[in-house]
Amino acid sequence: MGAHWIHGPSKENPVFQLANLFSTLLDQTREFLHVPQVPVPSVGQYMRKEIAQQVKEWTDDDETKWLKLAILNMYLKLECCISGTHSMDQVGLGPFGEYTMLPGLDCTFPGYGDLPDCMLTSLPKESVVFHKPVTVVRWGGSYRDESQEGRTFPVQVECEDGERFLADHVIITVPLGFLKEHHETFIDPPLPPRKADAIRQLGFGTNNKIFLEFEQPFWPPDCQLIEVVWEDESPLVEAGTDVQAGWFRKLIGFLVLQPPERYGHVLCGFIAGKESEYMETLSDAEVLTALTDVIRRLTGNPHLAPPKKVLRSQWHSAPYTRGSYSYVAVGSSGDDIDVLAQPLPEDAPLQVLFAGEATHRTFYSTTHGALLSGWREADRLLNLYDTSESHQHKPRL
Ligand SMILES: Cc1cc2nc3c(=O)[nH]c(=O)nc-3n(C[C@H](O)[C@H](O)[C@H](O)COP(=O)(O)OP(=O)(O)OC[C@H]3O[C@@H](n4cnc5c(N)ncnc54)[C@H](O)[C@@H]3O)c2cc1C
Repeated sequence: MGAHWIHGPSKENPVFQLANLFSTLLDQTREFLHVPQVPVPSVGQYMRKEIAQQVKEWTDDDETKWLKLAILNMYLKLECCISGTHSMDQVGLGPFGEYTMLPGLDCTFPGYGDLPDCMLTSLPKESVVFHKPVTVVRWGGSYRDESQEGRTFPVQVECEDGERFLADHVIITVPLGFLKEHHETFIDPPLPPRKADAIRQLGFGTNNKIFLEFEQPFWPPDCQLIEVVWEDESPLVEAGTDVQAGWFRKLIGFLVLQPPERYGHVLCGFIAGKESEYMETLSDAEVLTALTDVIRRLTGNPHLAPPKKVLRSQWHSAPYTRGSYSYVAVGSSGDDIDVLAQPLPEDAPLQVLFAGEATHRTFYSTTHGALLSGWREADRLLNLYDTSESHQHKPRL
C-alpha cells in the first residue's frame, strides 16, 4: 500500500511485468478496428481469454498466480472507470481502437471550472442563462415572434418554467444519458428511427468520485496513489452479483490529492458501474463506514481513525446527466456516433444540431471531445452563412 512508482521497470520487476502484460493485451484490443470478424464481441471477453492463455505459461506457485490474477482484476476495474462502464464485457471490441489517446502526459490545473469561466468572458453579458432546464425542443415549425414584426422561426425551445425561446438554429448538448431517458419527448417531432437507435445502442455508464478527508494522513508524504487489490478476486472467476453486500469491492483505489497544504489530507476514490450506482443510493454515513472498513482492512489497522468528511458525485442519480460519459457498447459502432451528430432535418436547412462528448467519434467521453464537437457545430453554422446568399435577418441561436 502507498506505492505509486514501479521502480526499475524491467524484466526483473514482477509488478512491472504485470502492468506491462495488461497494457500489451489492452493495446491488442485496439487492433480489431477494421477487422471484418472479431474473435469475441467485447473488450472484456478478449482480455479474459488472453489472460487465461497467459496463465498457462506462468511457472509461479499457486499463491503468486492468484495474487497476479487479483492485480489484473484490479486493472480491469480501472478500465471500467476509464470507459465509464459496469463491465468491460459491455464495451465493443471492434470499435475500441477508434478511441484516440492524445500524446503527452496527463496533467491537471486548478479546476475544470476555470475553462468555462474563461470562455464566458468572451461572450456578451447575459447571453448565457443558468438554471433553466429545457423540457422540449420543437423543430420543423413556424413560430411567430410578435416582438420582431411577426418574424417566424422554425425552432421553439420550451423550458420547465414555461418560458419559450424562438430560434433559427439550436445546438443540443445534453448528455447521452439524458437523451436515452427523454429523447422521445424532449425532441418534437421525434428523432428519425436511425438516430433513436444510435441513442439506444451507444453505451453510457457511471463512474463516480468519492473524496475522503482525514484529520491525519495514514499514507507517507510522497504517496500519490493507493490501489486496492482483493486477493480473492480474479478476471477468470465470475464476480459476485450481490451488489448490496460487496459494492465497495468495485472501488479501484484512491488518488492522494497533492499538495496537502492546499487540499488537506484528502483521498479521491473512483468507482464505476452498478456498484457505483448503488453507492449513490446510500447515505454519506453508510459510505463513510463501508470505506473506513476497506481502509482498515487494507492497512491492517483496525483502529485507524475514520475520515472526518465524505463528499461524492452521484452522476447516475443526477436528473440532467443520468450517468457519467459514453462508450461504444457491444452492438454499436463509431457510425452510431456520427449518426447522433447529424443535424436535423436530414435534408437541410439546419435547425437542430448536436454536440457534446458522445458526438465525437474519436474523443468521446472527454472534455476535449466535448469542446471540439461544439466548435464543429459552430463551424457548421458559420459555413452555412458564409456560403449562403446575403441574409435579411441576423440568425438567432
Ligand atoms: C468522474 C468523472 C471523471 C472525469 N474525468 C475526466 C478527465 O479526467 N478528463 C476528461 O477529459 N474528461 C473527464 N470526464 C468526462 C467529462 O467530464 C465529460 O466528457 C464532459 O464534461 C462532457 O461534456 P458535455 O458538454 O458533452 O456534457 P456535460 O458536461 O454533461 O454537459 C451537459 C449539460 O447539459 C445540461 N442539461 C441536461 N439536460 C438539460 C436540459 N433538459 N435543459 C438544460 N440543460 C440540460 C446538464 O446539466 C449539463 O450541464 C470525467 C467525467 C466524470 C463523471
